[in-house]
Amino acid sequence: MQEREIINIKDLSPKEIERFVIDNNLQPFRARQISKWLYKKGVGCFEEMSDLSKDFRELLQLSFCISPSLDLVQEQVSIDGTKKYLFRLSDGNQIESVLIPDKSRSTLCISSQVGCALGCTFCMTGTVGKIRNLKPSEILDQYMLVNRYNENSITNIVFMGMGEPLDNLDNLVKVINIFIDPNYLALSPKRITVSTSGLVPQIKKLGEQVSVNLAVSLNAPRDDLRNEIMPINKRYPIKELLEASVKFPVPNRKYLMFEYVLLKDVNDSDSDAHTLGRLLRGIKCKVNVIPFNEAFPLPYKSPDWESVLRFQEILMSYKMNVRIRKSRGSDILGACGQLAAKYPSKKVKQIQAQN
Ligand code: SAH
Ligand code: SF4
Repeated sequence: MQEREIINIKDLSPKEIERFVIDNNLQPFRARQISKWLYKKGVGCFEEMSDLSKDFRELLQLSFCISPSLDLVQEQVSIDGTKKYLFRLSDGNQIESVLIPDKSRSTLCISSQVGCALGCTFCMTGTVGKIRNLKPSEILDQYMLVNRYNENSITNIVFMGMGEPLDNLDNLVKVINIFIDPNYLALSPKRITVSTSGLVPQIKKLGEQVSVNLAVSLNAPRDDLRNEIMPINKRYPIKELLEASVKFPVPNRKYLMFEYVLLKDVNDSDSDAHTLGRLLRGIKCKVNVIPFNEAFPLPYKSPDWESVLRFQEILMSYKMNVRIRKSRGSDILGACGQLAAKYPSKKVKQIQAQN
């Protein structure tokens, strides 16, 4: 007899839990009781859900499992206080999450996939290739576990870890709904940011379903250059990407964000800054300039600080809101683009062999 795979209850959206409750002839408020036990109290078994009847607890036990989908393998703490967590999934794959504490907030950078299919040439995760999408429970448990290890201090979520969140759209939407539902994790949508390399149709689809902050990884102001460093641009060129981005329904009083990773002598010239300024002029947005985080064996260098400041100054002359994003956690390879867990990918091996 074939064994049935038991569904983790954290893979269900608020609507799906409610449907399960109603299908079993129970009152809808039972769904809220389940969510409280799962997400507010973080219980590890159905037995502990003491305000549910014994029969209902048994039914839940027969239908679902509740066990954490991640095992902590390692926690590393940077000299700047950033913490990187390496987790093992039940199939042996590994992912990383990064907690970035700041004065008034604590931001968790979450992974959405094991590896990434999009192969941006400056990103370690891209060298791995896509291994698989993360399930909702595997995305949520990054938050649940890291929040527990850090006295419930997480205030903000950014989908900027491993993977392209919009290449895992259905699970992303499910997770966002769990994050923002007042009966589930009750986070404000303003505190959630999805970062994308520019999957244009999915940007539209995400916007039809939720309103959260959107960060678009632009990284080049011209198609020829963007094609080179972000192959996804050949499918969805800059003009289409900007059209989709400006239509995205960011929450009230929030700005669309553009990320621009500065690669020395590749996309950091004065002329690139002017082209970028002209490109984004008139768009209500903020620009984050991110000096490249070096990670062996990627073939790029970080520009010197003067060039970074000059790039920012030129952009600001176009009356834009431009911030230089400090690299946090780079001493533990926890900064943007350095996450690759422990994958001796073919591509990494190839690049290593070439050097
Ligand atoms: N796939 C999504 C989210 C994960 S990458 C995306 O591409 O937006 C998160 C951010 O890290 C992106 O803005 C990306 O451009 C940036 N990034 C990737 N590699 C980097 C590196 N080595 N140094 C600095 N930023 C990097
Ligand atoms: Fe994937 Fe984003 Fe890295 Fe590009 S930058 S390879 S889209 S994770």
